[in-house]
Amino acid sequence: MSEAPSTPRPLQNGLYAWSEGAPVPAALLGSLCPSCAKKAFPRRPQCPACGAAMQDQPLTGAGTIYSSTTVRVPSPVGLKPPYAYGLVDLDQGPRIHALFTGAAVENFVPGSRVELVFEGVRPGGDIVAHKFRPRAAGAAS
Ligand SMILES: [Zn+2]
Repeated sequence: MSEAPSTPRPLQNGLYAWSEGAPVPAALLGSLCPSCAKKAFPRRPQCPACGAAMQDQPLTGAGTIYSSTTVRVPSPVGLKPPYAYGLVDLDQGPRIHALFTGAAVENFVPGSRVELVFEGVRPGGDIVAHKFRPRAAGAAS
């Protein structure tokens, strides 16, 4: 007797634009202010800058690490140390918090170019999160 295959699910409901049946989300679900053009992630009902009602804005692509840190103790959700996380200035606007993946922790220093990916919080896990991996050399911008 085998267990039913687990279905991928988001780290938190409402964070991602995710088509039913797709293995991973298509984008972060952020907000755009139609009045002052400020962008935010996660979604916000009201602009933190001018107070206008915000509209949904999918966010994807590359960014630049603003700050990072390396954790060298096990996390309560099972991340194996060392792992890195930090703040990324997305090219599309907002500064967002995320885990880093796809390279040794020493690679995630402020000013480094990274790109958004969606993958399991833990390898083989069913909870999918947004992370950033090093941007391939030669990638556009
Ligand atoms: Zn605004």
